[in-house]
Amino acid sequence: MTRQPKTFFIRTYGCQMNELDSEIMAGQLEARGLTQIEDEFSADLLIYNTCSIRDLAERKVMGKLGQLGKNLQHNPIIGLAGCMANAKKDSLFHKLPHLDFVMGTNDIHHLNDILDEVITTGKQTIHASDHFHEELNYIGAKRDDKIKAYISIIRGCSKFCTYCVVPYTRGTEVSRHPDHILEECRKLVDQGYKEFMLLGQNVNSYGKDQPQWGTLFHDLLYKIDQLPGLERVRFMTSHPIDITKELMVAIRDLKTLCEFVHFPLQSGSDRILKKMHRIYTVEEYLEKVSMLKSLVPGVALGTDIIVGFPTETEEEFMETYRLLEELEFSLAFLFAYSPRKGTPAMRWKDDIPEAVKEERLNRLSQLQAGIYNKQRKEMLGTEVEVLVEAQNFKDNQLLKGRTRCNKNVLFRAEPHLIGTLQKIHIHSFTNQTLIGDLTDCLKTSGG
Ligand code: SF4
Repeated sequence: MTRQPKTFFIRTYGCQMNELDSEIMAGQLEARGLTQIEDEFSADLLIYNTCSIRDLAERKVMGKLGQLGKNLQHNPIIGLAGCMANAKKDSLFHKLPHLDFVMGTNDIHHLNDILDEVITTGKQTIHASDHFHEELNYIGAKRDDKIKAYISIIRGCSKFCTYCVVPYTRGTEVSRHPDHILEECRKLVDQGYKEFMLLGQNVNSYGKDQPQWGTLFHDLLYKIDQLPGLERVRFMTSHPIDITKELMVAIRDLKTLCEFVHFPLQSGSDRILKKMHRIYTVEEYLEKVSMLKSLVPGVALGTDIIVGFPTETEEEFMETYRLLEELEFSLAFLFAYSPRKGTPAMRWKDDIPEAVKEERLNRLSQLQAGIYNKQRKEMLGTEVEVLVEAQNFKDNQLLKGRTRCNKNVLFRAEPHLIGTLQKIHIHSFTNQTLIGDLTDCLKTSGG
């Protein structure tokens, strides 16, 4: 019996790049006439867009898909997409025999062909190329958010940090032509989008693989900034070594470019940084941070930290701790090291006991919680500009927005303000969020 799907369901794991890939897949499937639904247990086509960055993320997907094989009665087509497809390839069919297809991050433009192959042959199929080489139909992506859009500018990574699977799952860096990026940006601005998040594993490398274009990352930012109607541009993520003075000046000078830079440190120990192949020292990192802070006063910094990397001593961990204390990041993603198959770090014994990793992680989390609290207190009584993004999920009398420095803000206002910039006076905060009032309201109510 041929299985001709009419509905589909996509579950996305991992990073924003995966979220965008899922939007592109949804766009392709809707163009084919399928309808997206939220019910995993009745959809005719199920796609799991996976992440390989941590062991826990992989185990979650394997557990989920293992259970699914036992629970589904209606014989849907099941596909596994994303980084796990590239990392595990056809070994996935042995562990998950009910999978119909495995499709890597570099093959999503073939989704409809892969589906046709499954429908006509009834056989399992795998497409997981090592390199990305085609322009995707970004304009056809099905975007649920109407205010903010992800824009892919570069795929893959050529840095080869010793713990990271990305260069193996997504391939080396491939920049997207600036004309294509600008065409997509123009169309989205015409549709009313106000904020773009430019995406790449290392956006700061943009254009280096295509010197004939004469467009590096900061050049692209100047071009995007010209688009009338666009309010904000953010980017994610960067490698410290590629953050240039030209980029810092762009953050200072461009009206759309937000004053928030994700600056992944990973470790505060030079020996561990070398072992991670991060290609900078702590001193070089601090020099860049200090240049950025002097060029862009008030800039907020984010970071990523890995604790418990093989051979990390307590003193080396404390070097990381002290740097976090000193730099007071406004956002820090903290992780315990987990070995990833296929990476150079797999050669080394994972010698830090899990309990020690956990304890180091807790110490850093407590430190960061105190820093966040202090930063929120400092914002009490200040006025911030937010881009109003949506009604609050839990209480739709409240609207939510974000400051230019990426802080979440809640305030009471009418939904017609969604998509506009508003000034908010901050009067309190919760664990995650600043709370305030519209400045105009304050003026009116104050008589
Ligand atoms: S720069 Fe980031 S994405 Fe690239 S290899 Fe290092 S950790 Fe992975």
